[in-house]
Amino acid sequence: MIDLTGRIALVTGASRGIGKAVALALAASGADVAVNYRERGSEAIDVLETIHAMGRRAIAVPADVSNGEAVNDMFRAIEHGLGMVDILVNNAGIAIFHNIDDLTEEDFDRTIAVNLKSAFLCTRAALPRMRARKWGRIVNISSGAARGAGGIGPHYNASKAGMEGLARGYAARVVKDGVTVNNVAPSLIATDMVSAGLTSSLSRIPVGRFGTSEECAQAVLMVIGNAYMTGQTIALSGGMSFN
Ligand code: NAP
Repeated sequence: MIDLTGRIALVTGASRGIGKAVALALAASGADVAVNYRERGSEAIDVLETIHAMGRRAIAVPADVSNGEAVNDMFRAIEHGLGMVDILVNNAGIAIFHNIDDLTEEDFDRTIAVNLKSAFLCTRAALPRMRARKWGRIVNISSGAARGAGGIGPHYNASKAGMEGLARGYAARVVKDGVTVNNVAPSLIATDMVSAGLTSSLSRIPVGRFGTSEECAQAVLMVIGNAYMTGQTIALSGGMSFN
């Protein structure tokens, strides 16, 4: 277990699912945590209370992370409430389940904005502080769908493949400043997102079960603990996909 005492983390989309597990794992490792969410405030408060019970500081920061102004306001609120962000986990995401004939321009734009542009907006806001302090960790939650067929659709695949390009584009440029940028790419973790549309996919997973959000969080912590690995994508797929 790594010691993150004194570090401040922001996890986007931390009210439930993978983001919640990552926020709790960061707090268990000693970090103070900003819990971002879009609309489920009461679930975010539950996460806060759990973190407070661990003896860590935490604040809830509502923001639609696909909106640049909202992201900048969120970073100001975090600086005011906790301090400067050392660890950014770009986790917030959506899955619009439409078959390819019904996929609209709006579906495509919204998916790219929430899943990909948000990671750029949060990275842009976090990086200057990380570089100035010569330490930072950015982890994007991409997906096995970045490199495989996936079960949601091409709009989702494109958004997650874009995250990988974003991470590599930043990685080589900021590692000399002590900042690493990596992706964790899960495939089929038991969350609301999967139960909303992918439950029939269990037979595709060689290990024979869905992954857990806690297993995802464990991979995120593993990445955060390593200062030499950057620009990489760690697959977490129960044997379904390999990078
Ligand atoms: P989830 O259970 O549906 O939770 C999504 C989270 O994102 C919620 O906290 C939600 O906030 C937040 N969110 C959505 N849109 C947002 C926005 N515009 N601004 C801020 N927050 C927003 O999803 P999950 O399964 O945990 O997925 C988390 C990430 O992992 C996503 O990026 C997803 O694409 C990726 N992923 C998941 C799987 C999987 O098998 N589950 C596989 C590969 C990748 P509210 O609660 O307030 O709505």
